[in-house]
Amino acid sequence: MSIETVEGVPVDTRHWIDGRRVASESVFTDISPIDEQPIAQVSAGTAIEVDAAVQAARAAFPAWAGLPRAERAQTLRRIADGIDARAEDLARVETRDNGSLLRSHRRGVMPRVGLNFRFFADALEKLDHPDSEIRGHRQRVSYHPAGVAAVITPWNAPLMLATWRIAPALAAGNTVVAKPPEWAPLTASLLADITAEAGLPPGVLNVVQGTGVAAGAPLTAHPGINRLAFTGSVPTAGRVAAAAAPNIVPLSFELGGKSPLVVFADADFDLAVSLAVEQFDNAGQVCLGAFRILVEESIAERFTAAVIERARGLVQGDPRAEATDISCLISREHFERVDGFVQRALAAGAQAVLGGPNTELGGLFYRPTILVDAEPGSEILTEEVFGPVLTVQTFRTERRAIEMANATRFGLAATLVTGDPERAERVSARLSAGTVWVNCFFVRDLGAPFGGSGRSGIGREGGIWSFDFYSDIKNTVFAPDPGQTRG
Ligand code: NAD
Repeated sequence: MSIETVEGVPVDTRHWIDGRRVASESVFTDISPIDEQPIAQVSAGTAIEVDAAVQAARAAFPAWAGLPRAERAQTLRRIADGIDARAEDLARVETRDNGSLLRSHRRGVMPRVGLNFRFFADALEKLDHPDSEIRGHRQRVSYHPAGVAAVITPWNAPLMLATWRIAPALAAGNTVVAKPPEWAPLTASLLADITAEAGLPPGVLNVVQGTGVAAGAPLTAHPGINRLAFTGSVPTAGRVAAAAAPNIVPLSFELGGKSPLVVFADADFDLAVSLAVEQFDNAGQVCLGAFRILVEESIAERFTAAVIERARGLVQGDPRAEATDISCLISREHFERVDGFVQRALAAGAQAVLGGPNTELGGLFYRPTILVDAEPGSEILTEEVFGPVLTVQTFRTERRAIEMANATRFGLAATLVTGDPERAERVSARLSAGTVWVNCFFVRDLGAPFGGSGRSGIGREGGIWSFDFYSDIKNTVFAPDPGQTRG
C-alpha cells in the first residue's frame, strides 16, 4: 500500500525522488510504540533508490544553487508556512509514529520545525563577510553551495532534527538526500509533500526511506555526495565516518551524550528540582538530557527526596492525552536495552529509589527511574542509556563537582544550578561541553553554535556555523587596480 492513513492523516509511504513518488519492491513495517501495533508499510530503500536520489539531487543542483539568494529564501519561507499550516497533522502523525507527547509537538516542536526554515531563510539573506585588505590587495570571502548534502537522522525528534539539517543545507544552495529513521519515518514524507506544494523544484529535496544498513549505508558511501550530516549514536557514527572516508566528504556529527546536572547547595532549590524532573521529558529519549545528577552532599538527601516526590507525580500514559507527562520508549528492543542498563546497575550495587518497567500500563512504558549509589566508573554512569533513568551522585567541593561532571567521554551539554554568580562563571568555564546552561535548561537560539565535544560529535551547526559547513568557502584576492598602482 502506498498511502496509509495515520491518525486520520493520509501519508504516502513511498520514497520521494526527483519530485515523484517511487515505490520499492519490498516494504518494512512501521510500528507505533504506543500500543506496538503496525501503522504503516513503508518502502524499504536500497542502494538503487539511493543512487537514483543522489543522481536527481546532482541534476537539480546547478539551477537551485544558481538562484538568487532572495528567491531561495522565499521558497524556504513558503515551506515554513506549509509546515505551520499542517502543524496539527504533523503533530498527530509524529506522536503515533514515535510515541512523543502530542502536547509538546503542538506547543514547541512543530513551531520549531517551521522556524528551522524561516530562520535559515533570514540568515541566508544576511550572510555576508566584509572584504578585507592585505598589502594593498582586496580580499573577498564568499560562500558557495557545496553540492549534494546527505542527511541521516534518528527517531527521537525526527522532523525537528531532519529540518534542522535540511533547512540550512537548502538555504546554502545545496540539494539534499534525506534518510529518515526507520522507527519514525512518516513525517519526513509529509515534509516532502509540503516542499512540493511550496514550489521546491524536483530533485532539490529527496527522501529515501529504509533501514540504516540497507539505505543509510549506501548513502554514506556514495561518491556523489558532498556533505554528510549525521545525527545518531556513536557506534553508527563510526561506521558512517568509515564509509564516507574514501570520498573525503566533510562530516557534521551530532551524537549522544551523558550530560551532568550539577546542583550546588546555594542553588534555588525548587528550580534545581524542576530541572532534574524535566529530564524525564520524551521518556528520557533526548540527546541533551542531563541524566547524571551531581548534588552537593549537604542537600543531597532533601534534594533526592524532592525529586522522587515530583517524579512520582508525573502522569504516564498515552502521549495523545493532554494530561500525559511521560510516554513510552520507542521499541521493544530499546525497552530491553534500557532495562538491561538498569538491571546491570542494580546487580552491581546501585539502589533504585524509584522506577522500572511500568507493570500497570505494560507495553513499552518505563517508569521514571532514579538510581543512587552506583559504582563509580560503572556503565550506568558512563554510557548513554537514552531512557528515563537518572543517577544521583554527591560531591563535597566545587573542584570535585567539576571533576565528576567532566568524567565522561561525551561532551554534548552540561547544566549548572547555583545561586552564586561568581561560581556560575568559574564552573561554567571549566565544564567540557558544547552547550552549558546555567540555572536553565534547553534554551536554544538557532543562531548559536550547537554541537558536541568528545564523543558527542564533530563540528558545530546553527547560524553562521551551518553555512560554514554547507558551503564551499572561497577566498579571492584582488591585486590593486593597475591604474592605481601606476599612479
Ligand atoms: P542510530 O545511530 O541507531 O540511527 C540514526 C540514523 O542512522 C537512523 O536513520 C539509522 O537508520 C541510520 N543508520 C543506522 N546504521 C547506519 C549505517 N550503517 N549507515 C548509515 N546510516 C545508518 O541512532 P538512533 O537510535 O536512531 O538515535 C539515538 C541516538 O541519536 C542517541 O545516541 C542520541 O543521543 C542521538 N541523538 C543526538 C542528537 C544531537 O543533536 N546530538 C539528537 C538526537 C539524537
